[in-house]
Amino acid sequence: MTKPTQNNNGVISLPIPVNIAMSKNALKQSIYPLGKKYYETTDWLGNVRVTYTDKKSWQQNKFALNVSSSLDYYPFGSVMEGRNLEIFNYRFGFNGWEKDDEVKGEGNHISFGDYGYDTRLGRRLRPEPLNGKYPFLSSYSVINNNPIIYRDVNGLDWEITSITFDNKGNKTVHIKLTAAVINNSSNTTLDMVTFATKSAEQISKTFSVKYSRATKFETINLNENLDRAPNNLMYPTQINDVTIIVDVDIRVINSESELKENEHLISVENDNDPKMTPNETAHVNEIGGKKIFVKESVARDVISGRNKRTIAHEAGHTLGLYHITQKYASDLDKIFGKELPTYTKDKDILKTNLMGPFFNNSATKLTDQQAEIIEKNISNGKVNK
Ligand SMILES: [Zn+2]
Repeated sequence: MTKPTQNNNGVISLPIPVNIAMSKNALKQSIYPLGKKYYETTDWLGNVRVTYTDKKSWQQNKFALNVSSSLDYYPFGSVMEGRNLEIFNYRFGFNGWEKDDEVKGEGNHISFGDYGYDTRLGRRLRPEPLNGKYPFLSSYSVINNNPIIYRDVNGLDWEITSITFDNKGNKTVHIKLTAAVINNSSNTTLDMVTFATKSAEQISKTFSVKYSRATKFETINLNENLDRAPNNLMYPTQINDVTIIVDVDIRVINSESELKENEHLISVENDNDPKMTPNETAHVNEIGGKKIFVKESVARDVISGRNKRTIAHEAGHTLGLYHITQKYASDLDKIFGKELPTYTKDKDILKTNLMGPFFNNSATKLTDQQAEIIEKNISNGKVNK
């Protein structure tokens, strides 16, 4: 019999002999040319810093990546002289935008969405069309004149607008949601401006949270090999705060044709509308989606302030959160990625959590894991579907 092996993470695996020759179907041959696929690695600002191909080389007894380009940028995106390597000319650069090298030479002009932008000046060619919204900024400025903290906001529905650290390593994450509300119900007296304001309040209040997180670990070697315990245990040695601040911008629209591509839609529907089921208050088009449907009677409670939860709960779904009561293991996996939730032992959580099962106006709490997953989901593009 073969002996079970144990790796550093304490995972025990049994080597299972596999006889490939015994597999029923003969393997089909297929040709996959290597070196034609490029991967990009970006820093948190979305700047493409290194690209490499799927072709690995064997060097000094180990596999090495084939780097196809590597670039360092000055703050506003101009490429550093002598710190760039481009074996393969990569299309995208600073902030992930397309480069336009034909205009002013290598890396000096970037398309930046619909406007051109000179990376040496840090100024755009045409004034910002939304400049009335930011009277304190020059209409020719880019990235709030602060390219170290901000990235050019693409104007996506859910978006991380900045991540900053203080000198102790505590992190502050600014998140923004852009949305529109529409009244598709037959109650024409519904005060949609107040509905938009109250919806924004619910979302902003619920998701603006602070939690603590272990950021450094120390490995402790145990002298005796305890039964089933890993040989090395990791203990947290530094704990840092993460503060999430959510700003919400919601406007009222009268026709769905006014909805912009970068806006969530919160639609008020008649209670008996065929797309609303009798025992629900609201639902989303999909987890990580961008459409919320709310019953008219519920919208009235949101306006009066009796309901402080439904819009935030649905926004939780558009942020990629599932209900915490989906008890089966596969569903638990969905809620917290692959991390198994420890909190399911805590009964109070069912009553107080935003994604809990009971309709309760005070159930708007988030767990640390949920707060962390929201940030991950936005940065991994799992929202705005
Ligand atoms: Zn739900």
